[in-house]
Amino acid sequence: MSCEHLVCAQCAHPVIEGRCPLCRANRERLHQHGFAGLSPALIALLLVVLLFATLAAEHLAFR
Ligand SMILES: [Zn+2]
Repeated sequence: MSCEHLVCAQCAHPVIEGRCPLCRANRERLHQHGFAGLSPALIALLLVVLLFATLAAEHLAFR
């Protein structure tokens, strides 16, 4: 989802221009959607899980 075509309800300018605090808040929120719709926090959590899974797999393989 992109905010390029959204018009601000407060200042009636494109949100992407960030002309008022509401625009800037919405722009920040829309641009923090992370990868493939996943939140950055969820991506970080998945990376940690993947790291532990890899370590566990190596531990099992080399015992
Ligand atoms: Zn605005």
